[in-house]
Amino acid sequence: MRVLHGKGVCPGIVIAPVAFASEKPLPAIIHTHASTSPEEEGARFDDAVARTQRQLAKLRGKLENFPTEGREEIGALLDVYERMLGHSRLIRAARARILEEGLTSEAAVKEESETLAHQTGPKDDTSEEEREAATRRAGEFREIARRLLRNLSGVSFRTFSHLPHGCALAIEQLRPADAALVNPSHFAAVITESGGTTDHTAIMLRALNIPTVLSVPHLATLLQDGDLVVVNGTSGEVFINPDATTLAAARAAMEEEARLRRGFGRLRRLPARLTDGEDIELLANVELTTELPPVHQSGAQGIGLLRSEFLFEGDMPDEEEQYETYAIFVRGMENHPVTIRVLDWGGDKGIDRLRTLGYGMPEDGQMLSMRGLRLLLSHPDILETQFAAILRASLHGPVRVLLPMVTALSEIREAREIYEKVARRLRRRGIKLPTKLPPLGIMIETPAAAMTADILVHQAEFLAIGTNDLTMYTLAVDRSGALDSNVYSALHPAILRLIGTTANAALRSHRPVCVCGELASDPRAVALLIGLGLRSFSMTASALPLVKQMVRSLSLETCDMLRRQAMLVDDPSELQKLVANFQT
Ligand code: PEP
Ligand code: MG
Repeated sequence: MRVLHGKGVCPGIVIAPVAFASEKPLPAIIHTHASTSPEEEGARFDDAVARTQRQLAKLRGKLENFPTEGREEIGALLDVYERMLGHSRLIRAARARILEEGLTSEAAVKEESETLAHQTGPKDDTSEEEREAATRRAGEFREIARRLLRNLSGVSFRTFSHLPHGCALAIEQLRPADAALVNPSHFAAVITESGGTTDHTAIMLRALNIPTVLSVPHLATLLQDGDLVVVNGTSGEVFINPDATTLAAARAAMEEEARLRRGFGRLRRLPARLTDGEDIELLANVELTTELPPVHQSGAQGIGLLRSEFLFEGDMPDEEEQYETYAIFVRGMENHPVTIRVLDWGGDKGIDRLRTLGYGMPEDGQMLSMRGLRLLLSHPDILETQFAAILRASLHGPVRVLLPMVTALSEIREAREIYEKVARRLRRRGIKLPTKLPPLGIMIETPAAAMTADILVHQAEFLAIGTNDLTMYTLAVDRSGALDSNVYSALHPAILRLIGTTANAALRSHRPVCVCGELASDPRAVALLIGLGLRSFSMTASALPLVKQMVRSLSLETCDMLRRQAMLVDDPSELQKLVANFQT
């Protein structure tokens, strides 16, 4: 037996035979100058561009059935690729060299993509994060060049469909767009030689829920087709030709995972009730209507956060289009509440779209400045249309309206005035809205909002604590580079105090409060949050059964004890350890 160590990016243990996926190499470029006329060569180049565009469109079609996170991740990347194949610097420069210098398409693509990759690639004097981003940008130029060169030379692309079912896919590098070809029912695991935990490929594989270990050194020399491996996607270990003890331990771990999954069906019908009888509300976070079936399966009591940004990815949606989508959620939830958050652009979301719409985002400091509610208030037309659509959808079932990225009372007041104005306008159009409009609540995701929650409740009918941004803005760590960062963790004494302050303000003013950031997906953290006074949590549907299982094993006293211990801890890593080691 031999043990290889890489980066575990998607948890789960599997035992499977290895199948290597290799790619036919591209032929060397022998002729740099075309033997045909520049116009003919230009037409050959245009043909390869068009073919590459069609292939990308086909790839986008394959994403339809992917989970949201993976679809978003690769969708955004495909946008970049499509732009690069449009009237981009790469295409313009390559075409100019074909027409003006008589280069072959291959030589023009290779030279121009390398120049651009070099210009945008990592520089020595930049930070780790900037280097990662620059490497990614350079990789995007190389990927487009690779696709164009394959189409120009007619050398086929990599496919995975011929590999045996149930194998562990081993590959030197899995490019993000290739990840879209990985069918989770075909492969038991993925092992690669290169790749990092934060790159597009890792996010995609996590969304597909395939146990994955990336960045295993010398994979191609140490592993062979048919080798039996145990892949541990949590620890990042790959055991080649495992001994009897390792195999037995892996089988036991797999059985335990399967047992947990089987228990979830039964759990769905049971209440999320503490051992001393108090009920906890467990809700789901969603984006797409296709997520409704898993939400129902999870036993969620409603939707605690509907992120509406996805609706704005294409053309600006009108009231009718938005109404139809919201109505699907509201009807689909069959009288369970649906909390719809109005557009939360800025920061990590929608920057490119904002620029194309001419909303003049600054090049730098995107996490700050115009975003969330502040941005909407400066473009009230978007907010008015969205409020109108949500109010109309509320006629189909209980709805709550959520304002993102709030920092001051005046912002909520202004939004409320618009909300009421839109309601009056709808009534004039003959739409029979109830006298009491759906509650208007706010996200608590800035330190300002958490610290002044007692003031904000004067205008907010409910609160939703977004620990993802609250962590970023409190600890000054960018959440998008967060997976590799030990610093980005909501389990920090400062965040606990901000959550505690918010919970107290909500309790005192009798306002419902829910935690809807990622922290609510961590069952042990939920125990601590219950100790802090919270009783409502919204999370990805897949996390809900484990959280419910935890809730059902907790008493108020246990949660309070954990809170007391946590409040005495003065170091974030100690707090993380305390929660990780918590046992009921
Ligand atoms: C949050 O910030 O915690 C949150 C739930 O909102 P989003 O992740 O959409 O920014
Ligand atoms: Mg947020």
